[in-house]
Amino acid sequence: MLIVASVVAVEADKCIGCKACDRVCPTEAIITVNKLAVVEESACTGCNKCIEACMDHGAISRKRLEKPVWLRVDLESQPEEKVAELCAGARLHPAQSICPCTGTRAREVAVAILNGATTPAEVSIQTGVRGVCSMWCTSAVLRLLSAAGHSTESNPKNWRLYPDGVGPSIWSIPDSVADKYPEYRLRESRDALKSGDLELVGFPNIRQESE
Ligand code: SF4
Ligand code: SF4
Repeated sequence: MLIVASVVAVEADKCIGCKACDRVCPTEAIITVNKLAVVEESACTGCNKCIEACMDHGAISRKRLEKPVWLRVDLESQPEEKVAELCAGARLHPAQSICPCTGTRAREVAVAILNGATTPAEVSIQTGVRGVCSMWCTSAVLRLLSAAGHSTESNPKNWRLYPDGVGPSIWSIPDSVADKYPEYRLRESRDALKSGDLELVGFPNIRQESE
């Protein structure tokens, strides 16, 4: 869940149409058409990535919304069993926090997907996830989309911030790599996660929540 208090606006006379903003926007809210960046406010999470990307030209600034917008799903809109099944397919616990910036849990993303989201951008607009830093949460969002049968390959015509495939996670690290770097205790961590015995600092105690 994310509360959006501000979006962005483009000053047309400063925009040179370089598309640097397009490349970093997590929700496709800013698109350059005919050498001018245009913002779709209803898709903007106010993450400010485009402002950073446009630093050399200073064409983008923040615009405060009259009323904040809440990006959140109705958890009751999908049966718990279906949500749990989709999360299990992505090897995530429904109560697992997958986005430290917005506090979004795996089940919120699962509900968004079951409600019709098919891309990372659509998931973000429904839940707010990826709406701030876009780093920690992206892999989990891609795994949930993939578990629901959606393609997670990025469109070669754009450069948005998500990798091809499902991204790296502890489940995709080959055993040969885990064995090469025993100091990271990757195999032990995987086993502990599978058994539900691992308590991660700053994260909910998954076991207690599920009992
Ligand atoms: S980064 Fe700035 S100058 Fe480039 S297209 Fe976007 S708004 Fe225009
Ligand atoms: S979502 Fe972020 S990058 Fe996209 S237009 Fe809004 S502030 Fe810019």
